[in-house]
Amino acid sequence: MKTVTLTNDFHRTETRVRLKPSKWGEGEITWQQEARARKALCGVDGCTCAGHAGVRGGLYVVEPDTWNWDDGTPQTFVVYAPQGGTA
Ligand SMILES: [Zn+2]
Repeated sequence: MKTVTLTNDFHRTETRVRLKPSKWGEGEITWQQEARARKALCGVDGCTCAGHAGVRGGLYVVEPDTWNWDDGTPQTFVVYAPQGGTA
């Protein structure tokens, strides 16, 4: 299993997440991990500094990858490096 560091350059925070293998990108995280990362990186009610997982800047981007078809909420998120970097 691979662990990567997600960062938020607005709040100057970072958090590490453990990835599961995925079809594309560096790996995937569950919606629970996404929520935990968002709380660690931003955690401010109503703050719009960041996208998924509270990531802003840094090497990795987090996007929904699979959804719960019952309520439309993301189930897993893929973590990828848009610039192709790995760390
Ligand atoms: Zn914020």
